[in-house]
Amino acid sequence: HAAKETGEPYRHWSPALDERAGEHARIGAELQAALHAGHFRVVYQPIVAMPDARVTAVEALVRWEHPERGTVSPAQFVPVAERNGLIVELGAWIMRTACEQLVRWQAELGPDAPERVSVNVSARQLARPEFPGMVADILASTGLPASCLTVEVTETAVFGGGQAVTALHHLRSLGVRIALDDFGTGHSSLGLLHTVPVDVLKVDKSFVDRITEAGRHAVIASALIQVSQGLGLTAVAEGVETAEQAQALYALGYRLLQGYYFGKPAAEPEFTRRSSASPA
Ligand code: C2E
Ligand code: MG
Ligand code: MG
Ligand code: MG
Repeated sequence: HAAKETGEPYRHWSPALDERAGEHARIGAELQAALHAGHFRVVYQPIVAMPDARVTAVEALVRWEHPERGTVSPAQFVPVAERNGLIVELGAWIMRTACEQLVRWQAELGPDAPERVSVNVSARQLARPEFPGMVADILASTGLPASCLTVEVTETAVFGGGQAVTALHHLRSLGVRIALDDFGTGHSSLGLLHTVPVDVLKVDKSFVDRITEAGRHAVIASALIQVSQGLGLTAVAEGVETAEQAQALYALGYRLLQGYYFGKPAAEPEFTRRSSASPA
């Protein structure tokens, strides 16, 4: 056996991997129980429109409120939920919760409410033929107009084409917008932009992080806003943490920004307009 000849242990015998597999099985079972116990929560991060930083949209982000471990990050449990399939049920709950929340804000706040909510959807969800129909049902039963919903998918989730792209076409025919998340980090190809129905490019935080250095990251961020504008897409820059980054992005032509600088994810974000001018 090749692995034996090179003296490497069999990968599936590695104690570290065994532990990880055991851990995944345990978390998988816990996730199922947590969903039924109501231990998940959805928080919302503002997406602001420059120059006045008005909150035009929010991104829904799931949290696990674990009774002992406290708030668990989706980076830790979403991959597990994707692997064991629970993401289908959890994702449906997140979608419904987010749509209900926006309907509530729009009723309470009128024109001060965000216009749209963005919901992250994983490859596993898109692969289910019933997914677009489920979204249509949620829109119908919550009363949220389809134009108020954006579905965020990664390049990787749609890279293979097939069912995922069919699902996106179906969603779009309902009037839902499609955003390519973390753009520039996956199997990036500008070719995706004409094979996949897409409305929004979310330019990944890794480009924003080094935007002020005037190096390659800034060049790519600049190219991506040009491409967006040329193709009639909306660009959102993710992970904006400083005023300098916001300024540099604005200078490149970005008008929609998201990041801790404008607001962290919260159950009840601040929607009142924050002035970029200094206090009078
Ligand atoms: P994402 O969709 O790219 O979401 C953006 C992530 O960046 C969020 O992390 C957000 O809190 C974080 N972020 C936003 N602004 C900043 C910033 O200025 N600085 C830094 N350091 N981080 C910032 P979060 O909530 O931990 O989510 C991580 C990832 O987990 C998401 O990345 C998404 O891929 C996945 N995820 C979260 N919620 C859901 C969900 O409801 N369904 C699915 N399928 N995946 C989800
Ligand atoms: Mg996202
Ligand atoms: Mg992202
Ligand atoms: Mg991300």
